[in-house]
Amino acid sequence: MTEEKNQRRPFIYDVTLRDGNQALPNPWNNAQKKDVYLQLLKLGVQGAEVGFPASSEMDFESVKELAKLTAQMAEEGNVEAQNIVVSGLARCVPSDIQRCWDAVKYAPHPRIHTFIAGSPLSMEHVLHMTPEQVKERAVSCVKLAKSLVGDKGDVEFSVEHFGDCLENMDFVIDELKAVVEAGATTINLPNTVERYRPALYVNQIKQVYDALPKNITISVHCHNDLGMATAATVESFYAGANQLEVSLNGLGERCGNTNFYEVVVALANSGTPVDIHLDRIYETAILISQWSGVNIYSRAPLIGAEAIVHRSGIHQDGASKTKDLKKGAYRPIDYSMIGRHQNDSLGFTSQSGRTAVYEIVTKFGYKLSLAEAAELQPILKAASEKEGELSADRVLDIFREHFINVNGHLIFNNIEVIPDENRFIFHFKKDGEAIVKSVTAEGPVEAALILMREIGMPVELVKYRQLVVPEKDKLWAGRGLSRIVLKVNDKEVEGRGVSSDTLKANMRAIFCGVNLLYK
Ligand SMILES: [Zn+2]
Repeated sequence: MTEEKNQRRPFIYDVTLRDGNQALPNPWNNAQKKDVYLQLLKLGVQGAEVGFPASSEMDFESVKELAKLTAQMAEEGNVEAQNIVVSGLARCVPSDIQRCWDAVKYAPHPRIHTFIAGSPLSMEHVLHMTPEQVKERAVSCVKLAKSLVGDKGDVEFSVEHFGDCLENMDFVIDELKAVVEAGATTINLPNTVERYRPALYVNQIKQVYDALPKNITISVHCHNDLGMATAATVESFYAGANQLEVSLNGLGERCGNTNFYEVVVALANSGTPVDIHLDRIYETAILISQWSGVNIYSRAPLIGAEAIVHRSGIHQDGASKTKDLKKGAYRPIDYSMIGRHQNDSLGFTSQSGRTAVYEIVTKFGYKLSLAEAAELQPILKAASEKEGELSADRVLDIFREHFINVNGHLIFNNIEVIPDENRFIFHFKKDGEAIVKSVTAEGPVEAALILMREIGMPVELVKYRQLVVPEKDKLWAGRGLSRIVLKVNDKEVEGRGVSSDTLKANMRAIFCGVNLLYK
């Protein structure tokens, strides 16, 4: 333990809400950004870049809200909120820097992060500025930022395209010395575009680390264009960089930013203490995938569906012989470290949590949200207390019972279509009483929604999808699965219906959703 105390620890600085969000096909609104931010606090990150206040009114408001929220949580005693550095991005433009400060200043530890390109290519062809002009601009903007943050906050300066500065490192070091003099205390050296092998970049990091005073924090920010951002980031830490800029699920421009989970796990696995709640990684990955709409690649390190599966006989044999050891023959980590089950023949025990439920059900090809998994968890727990460990098939049965073709107040029997009259005749039961009701509408989904209104159970249609039942589910394979999201007031549920007839699958999904909403 004493040894661990003396070891250098990384400053994990997350950029999901800035770099990650700006690259999403549908960027998050401010309420969604808040959810992501709260998850970052749960993980215990040391710093978070939460937006680019000068880029839009919405981003300005979001950064301001998050800074204020942090102050409020800190006051209420939340330790993560008390410690986190809340940062906003600003170009080396005085109005950007002022705007950034106006948004972040409410946080207990506010930061202005300002940047300007330093590569020959960008200075000449993008900025149309000479290196001397760039240096002057950098120094004057850092001075302005420093005058705004005073003793309350700090200033980070980035040499954008640092990875492209192989030929002009002398200029960069000269510029950085002046910027440090002007008040920047964190110097970020981005591999804005990953073009070369990591060793070249790490060597550049080392040069800057050696040239600057040791009280300055060197930071790395890597993009993953060649798939080596994690390697470049991890090795930079051992070359002297202390702030590691990373992103949840590796979200970010083009091929993404450095993946948060890979970096912290690689460091921890290499014996470096990391002050992050690693056991929240797996649940975070699932949430971020759902919130961003960006699926997790099946072979993604640590979090992909295939990461814990052994297919060949030799691998299965080695895995099973070493399954109780800390180090597995074909397993990089003990997956419980990131809050994930690692058992190949995954079952559910009374100890299993919502991520285990999620993992079992999605393994069959069904989609469910983490909130639904949490809803199912106590039901499975009760069953496993009676029956012992539940097999994956048994879990799937219970999932279906509670989420597919669910009966409640309503039981769907049949629908007749009279095409010439745009008429639909529903046969169903309401609270045990058999009812036949005719509705006129453009189509069957609209007819079902009208029917619900007429029987006093109105719902709004939010989203509609139809697929075929996943093949792994032998019992139902080949049938239509409808997933229909319905809403009443603020409550949303997904109704799921299965039938060999797609029209009936749709109707069952709507009846199922209504039953879940009106319990
Ligand atoms: Zn970036």
